[in-house]
Amino acid sequence: MTIDMQGKVVLVWPHDLSQRHVTQVLQEHTPWVVKNLQAMSEKVRPHVQPPTHITLAALAQSFSVHYQVSLEPCKLVEHDHTLTISGDVADIEAVRQRLNIWLKKKGHQYLKPWLAQVATEMGVAYHDVSIRLQKTRWGSCSAKKRISLNAALLFLPDFLVRHVFVHELTHLKHLNHSSHFWQDVALFEPDFQKHGRLLKQYAKDVPLWLTQPFDVGFDKVVREDVS
Ligand SMILES: [Zn+2]
Repeated sequence: MTIDMQGKVVLVWPHDLSQRHVTQVLQEHTPWVVKNLQAMSEKVRPHVQPPTHITLAALAQSFSVHYQVSLEPCKLVEHDHTLTISGDVADIEAVRQRLNIWLKKKGHQYLKPWLAQVATEMGVAYHDVSIRLQKTRWGSCSAKKRISLNAALLFLPDFLVRHVFVHELTHLKHLNHSSHFWQDVALFEPDFQKHGRLLKQYAKDVPLWLTQPFDVGFDKVVREDVS
């Protein structure tokens, strides 16, 4: 049994081997195949470099990111659309943390009042809102009327942020995806079907540095970026 570079599994067996025996061999080797396919997919993982530019489409704002090496602990300073990350920037987890904290702060600053505005327009009220960096959800709404928003919404165009807001705020009235729920969504978001499809496409544009570990080759980029 072999696995080629495209991940195709090839089993060659002697012609006198029974079908039952072949099936048995396949079953016995399934863990081996799974293990090797996983190892291969890790090898082809996309290259993730720390960002040198960040565009928050929802706010129509762009930032350039500079890295300054020093012996201090990592910190991030924003000034005039420039983010300066200084300190031990070879500590890639620390860099990622600084960026994530910065993004969540932007979420608090912009997404919270924006959500409040849409809630007023829709005539609904929630208990509170939190800004997180969930891996798989744009937002959620609990039975206790707590709304949670993904700070990554800031990477989407504004009409899709509104789409997510209307969806979550409608859950204040319907904690399900029944036909009544969608009828109420349509009142404030008539294009919800089209926008729902677009949301899936735009999800691919969320920068990899937010969700994936950085490459180990980070050092090189940092050194080139030192100003
Ligand atoms: Zn929902």
